[in-house]
Amino acid sequence: MTAPLHIDGSFGEGGGQIVRSSLALSLVTGRPFTIENLRARRAKPGLARQHLVAVKAAADVGQARVEGAELGSTRLVFEPGEVRPGEYDFRIGSAGSTSLVAQTVLPALLHMHGPSVLHLEGGTHNPLAPPFEFLAKTYLPLIARMGPKLDATLYRAGFYPAGGGRLTVRIQPGDSLQPLELLERGPLRSGRVRALVANLPAHIALRECRTIAEHSGWEESCFSVESVTADGPGNVVLIELEHEHVTEVFGAVGQKGVKAETVALHAWREAQAYLESGVPVGEHLADQLLLPMGLSAWQNRGGGQFRTGPLSQHAHTHMEVLRQFLEIVIAVDERDGVTTVKVGPA
Ligand code: ATP
Repeated sequence: MTAPLHIDGSFGEGGGQIVRSSLALSLVTGRPFTIENLRARRAKPGLARQHLVAVKAAADVGQARVEGAELGSTRLVFEPGEVRPGEYDFRIGSAGSTSLVAQTVLPALLHMHGPSVLHLEGGTHNPLAPPFEFLAKTYLPLIARMGPKLDATLYRAGFYPAGGGRLTVRIQPGDSLQPLELLERGPLRSGRVRALVANLPAHIALRECRTIAEHSGWEESCFSVESVTADGPGNVVLIELEHEHVTEVFGAVGQKGVKAETVALHAWREAQAYLESGVPVGEHLADQLLLPMGLSAWQNRGGGQFRTGPLSQHAHTHMEVLRQFLEIVIAVDERDGVTTVKVGPA
C-alpha cells in the first residue's frame, strides 16, 4: 500500500471541499489519507451530516476502512480498497446536497470498466451547493466531453429542511479522461429563467421572474413559473445561459424571511457578472473543473485549460488538494480580471 497522505484540513478555506476532494482522489489513486483539523475554519468544525454521507458513500464505493466517520469528528482516516462499479443507493437522511455526494464518488466510477448508476435521495436545490440543473446541464456535459457517457434525471425536487428529492446519475466510462479546453464561450444561444415553487404560492415565482425581467430586459418567452412536487415547501430561481461552447446555470434558493425579489436579484447579479465577464467558466464551475482535469493530466492525457474570472479561495484550496494527491502542474495566469488555468502532467 502507498504511504498515507497527511492533510491539514485547516489550510486555505478549511471547509468541506477538502474532505470531499480527498475522498474522490483517494478512491481514484488508491492512496490512503488522514485529515486532521477537519473543517477547522467553520463555525461548527468537524464533519457535518452532509460530509459524513459523502464519507460513507466513498467508503461504500471503494470498500474502504474508515476511522472517525462521526458527526463533529475533526480527524478522518480513509484507506480505500477496490472500487466497485454498479448500482448504488445513497439516502441523505436530511436535505443535504445530493450533487455534492454524487461529485465525491463520480471520479472513481469514471475510471472503472463497467457502468454505474447512482440513485440519490436528499436535497436537490441547496444554498451553497450545485443545484440539480447545474449538475445536469453544466458539470456532467463538460465531463462527458472528456469521454464518458453521463446523464442525470430528476424525479422529485428536495429542499431544506424536508429533503426527499430524488435523482439518478448514469455513468458509462470511456477509456480515460481526454483533455478539456474551454477558452471561449462563443455567442449566446439562449437565456432562460425558471422559477420553481413547491407547496408555496405561485406569486413568489412570478415576482422572481418579474424582478429578473426588469433587470435583464429579456422578453416574456424567456421566463417560466413552475410548480413542482416536493416533500415540503421550497423555491429556487434558475438562470440558464446557453452559449455555443458551454451552458452555465446560476441559481438562488428561496429562504424563509428573504423576499422573493432579493432571491431573484441574487441569482441575476451572478448571471449578469458572468455575462459581462466574457469568460466561459463561472466561479463555481472553475473550482469543480479542476479535479477532472487534474485526473486527465495524471493519466498523461493532457489535462486541459480554461478561462475564468478571478479565482475564489475555494479554487485555490482545491488546487492544493490536487497537488498533494497527483503529480501534476497547475499554472494560473491572471491578467485584467481574466484568469487562464492550465492543468498538465508534471
Ligand atoms: P463547508 O460547510 O465546510 O463550507 P461545504 O462542503 O458545505 O463545506 P463548500 O466547501 O463551500 O461547502 O463546497 C461547496 C461546493 O458547491 C463548491 O464546489 C462550490 O463551487 C459548489 N457550489 C456552491 N454554490 C454553487 C452554485 N450556486 N452553483 C454551482 N455550484 C455551487
